[in-house]
Amino acid sequence: MKLESASAFEADRAAGAGENYRQVSYWLASSGDDLTPRQFVDKDYTVDVAILGGGFSGLWTAYYLLELEPSLSVAVVEREICGFGASGRNGGWCSPRLPIETAALVKQCGIDAARSALSALKVAADDIGRVCERESIDAEYRKTGLLSLARSPSQLKKAEQAYDCLRSLGLNDDLELLGKEEAVAYVNASNIFGGMRTSWGATVHPGKLVRGLARAVERRGGKIFEGTDVQSLDTGSSAALHTRYGAIRAKRAVVVAGEAYLAERPEFSRKLLPISSMIVLTEPLSAEQWASIGWRGGESLCSYVNVKNYLTRTSDGRILYGSRGAPYLFGSKLSEDAIKDQRIFSWMRGCLNEWWPQLEDAAITHQWGGYLGVTRNWMPTASFDRTAKIGQLYGYAGRGVATSAFAANLLAQQIANPNANTISNYPVFQPKPQKWEMEPFRWAGVRYIQNAYFRIDKADSNGLPQPIDAPFAKRLGGI
Ligand SMILES: Cc1cc2nc3c(=O)[nH]c(=O)nc-3n(C[C@H](O)[C@H](O)[C@H](O)COP(=O)(O)OP(=O)(O)OC[C@H]3O[C@@H](n4cnc5c(N)ncnc54)[C@H](O)[C@@H]3O)c2cc1C
Repeated sequence: MKLESASAFEADRAAGAGENYRQVSYWLASSGDDLTPRQFVDKDYTVDVAILGGGFSGLWTAYYLLELEPSLSVAVVEREICGFGASGRNGGWCSPRLPIETAALVKQCGIDAARSALSALKVAADDIGRVCERESIDAEYRKTGLLSLARSPSQLKKAEQAYDCLRSLGLNDDLELLGKEEAVAYVNASNIFGGMRTSWGATVHPGKLVRGLARAVERRGGKIFEGTDVQSLDTGSSAALHTRYGAIRAKRAVVVAGEAYLAERPEFSRKLLPISSMIVLTEPLSAEQWASIGWRGGESLCSYVNVKNYLTRTSDGRILYGSRGAPYLFGSKLSEDAIKDQRIFSWMRGCLNEWWPQLEDAAITHQWGGYLGVTRNWMPTASFDRTAKIGQLYGYAGRGVATSAFAANLLAQQIANPNANTISNYPVFQPKPQKWEMEPFRWAGVRYIQNAYFRIDKADSNGLPQPIDAPFAKRLGGI
């Protein structure tokens, strides 16, 4: 097949692309950028560090590298535009939390590792605010804390267990277990039995953060290529990212930070799964509507359901309701069409109405979905192999906004300093994830768990006994 010339490709690519990227999420649309792709890789380049992926992981790695060693040459190569992936589509929680609950974390990694990781993540979430200030990134960073509401008696038990576990780790500064009245005073939603609140963490406008971070990387001398698919990579003495029109050779390291999209590559297909999450967003609510809801602190909000949910009060007065998305697709396929499924958006709209029946007439102005990368034990991977000259960051599941900045900082320290071994100080980052099962077992298992969690939540919210297979499903799903 004859390849088109680089300049013809460039012309096609630039035409109207910014407008298409506005459709990806409300966050990209309201990021204040015109989203026209930057220059693509048109020839061979040589740099010190070449990074695959222009999301938070890739950009934070570039940012911290340039902070630690300003003379480094760093290039980020992004297939679409910076923020096209989960980083430009998420719920805006910047929380010091890992994908699994604290008790499970302690079981997997031990008390000390769990405590040190959660404490370090708290600092990392605060650091994002500090970088925003220093770099003048108006990412609407607000130190709101986190509020988890119990909306059934069994959810109240989970809140109590979570509280006891955090207390046993000594992580209870400004942590409150809330009774019904106290919880309702924070947020007046239906069916509240109590909850837990902590001042740890913040909310952000992820679109403004990811686009602002890209500009900060450029100001520090980093080079960002967009609209460029990395087709293959080499490690060791010939470390490089290979693209259609040229290679980015890396003297010191290549970094792989492609999150869920990596699952499409054979070498990652059993290391992580692409699981989707979807979001509906209301119009800005009126002062009366807000008065009836409360939620004055704008905390990152959720309940203790198994099919996770996350709610955010945006700074322009909307409610974002996010939850798990479309069913897993055979062979770890990622499909933009699957995450536009109207039935799932309608179900989420129903969930929102169930929380606040008075919002029945509030218009949904935006809805979108995205993919997160999930490893077999739901823990993120961060690693650096100095001999093979390859760094890897992925698998944050739905908890990557603060964690990616933290992991990227650790990786940057290891790349910049030949004697540093910073990642291994945090055993929550597994160097090599366990493998997922082969297909079709993977598809059957994941679909079964997704379906079982819906059934378990439905029975719980209707006050019915748990489905007979609930213990089995929970054990299989690791909750
Ligand atoms: C709907 C949704 C809601 C979420 N909500 C939250 C939340 O509220 N709080 C939270 O902490 N986390 C949340 N997450 C998770 C969080 O957004 C991610 O963990 C985080 O953004 C991961 O950043 P990343 O850079 O690793 O991956 P991504 O942002 O996905 O970036 C990977 C990038 O790599 C690029 N890429 C992939 N392959 C190639 C290739 N071959 N060549 C070139 N480029 C390539 C992709 O185009 C993409 O831009 C959510 C995720 C989703 C999808």
